[in-house]
Amino acid sequence: MDEKNNEKHIPVAEPEFSGNEKKYLNEAIDSGWISSGGGFIEKFEKQFAEFCGCAFATSTSNGTTALHLALLALDIKDGDEVIVPNLTFVATANAVIYVGAKPVFVDCEADTWNIDPQKIEERIASKTKAIIAVHLYGHPCDMNSILDIARRRNLKVIEDCAESHGAKYNGKTVGGFGDIGCFSFFGNKIITTGEGGMCTTNNPELFAKMKLYKNHGMDPSKKYWHPVVGYNFRMTNMHAAVGVAQLEKIDSLISGRRRAADFYNRLLGDLPGIGRCVEKEYAFNVYWMYSVLLDNEKERNMLMDFLADNNVETRPLFWPMSMMPPYKKYLSQDDAFPVSEGTAVRGINLPAGPKLTLDDQSRIVGLIKKFKETK
Ligand SMILES: *Cc1c(COP(=O)(O)O)cnc(C)c1O
Repeated sequence: MDEKNNEKHIPVAEPEFSGNEKKYLNEAIDSGWISSGGGFIEKFEKQFAEFCGCAFATSTSNGTTALHLALLALDIKDGDEVIVPNLTFVATANAVIYVGAKPVFVDCEADTWNIDPQKIEERIASKTKAIIAVHLYGHPCDMNSILDIARRRNLKVIEDCAESHGAKYNGKTVGGFGDIGCFSFFGNKIITTGEGGMCTTNNPELFAKMKLYKNHGMDPSKKYWHPVVGYNFRMTNMHAAVGVAQLEKIDSLISGRRRAADFYNRLLGDLPGIGRCVEKEYAFNVYWMYSVLLDNEKERNMLMDFLADNNVETRPLFWPMSMMPPYKKYLSQDDAFPVSEGTAVRGINLPAGPKLTLDDQSRIVGLIKKFKETK
């Protein structure tokens, strides 16, 4: 075997279950409450709301159903339009399509890669009902600008916080800026329940509506009476048990990611030809992913291959929505997305997460430097 292939495989993301996960999961199973009853769900919701500084939180089966539920609760439907960043994970746009509305894509900022508030207003039309702000890769959006537009144009705001648990904008935790915040607990997110999601809000009516819709539309005070066509978007008590254990250590999970990002920054130094993800003055970035930008797509792909050959797993940045076939029909003729289309194809997410060691990071950066030198 080639010598380099003996080196430890470094995954791009790995969950960490050294806390009370197994204990609580066993408690949930032993209690017999394995579906939507049982103590862990309420506990997880209460504690998560508190973590986000929100009045209410209701759990869901995953982050995509959290977004879907938020749109249902805000009464967004067929014929409506929703502003969505062009650079995001597809689930953000898909949820809009599930309720029959049209996603209207907006280009991103060159430094944060989040939706560019300067480019939102020109895309607002009479049918526009909401803006979805995605805090991409752990960096919060410029919320004051987005909230200002929403207030002036009478639009709802959903935060997609699937990648940004605990991120802060001007010192305030994400999830409570807009009408509803949506979170994911997929296996590679900052905390995980395997599959899972959460909607946060400060609005008691939206909270009640989300609880109604996610539970088959069943009237909470009249069993098997269904005033609306609902959905089953519930989280199980078993998933919530894992969530409670993960939430107990979320602060150290976040500080670990921030430490890793700091270490990447220092190791990379001022290496030319490698752009970095940023942390704006208003931001507390939780660095769900630490990302670098190469000069062009070809070089990006070469570096990814080189790292893969050396047992380092990476991911490309998300493809912009405007580049993928199913979303072309939502574009208008004069749409252009120079920043997201120009950026995404040059970007790589490097390994991150709680199990990444300093040695791993030194090895990764050593390989990047070697790649740049021999190129
Ligand atoms: C992961 C993710 C989602 C979807 O969450 P799932 O739990 O996988 O359904 C939505 N939006 C963004 C930005 C994500 O990263």
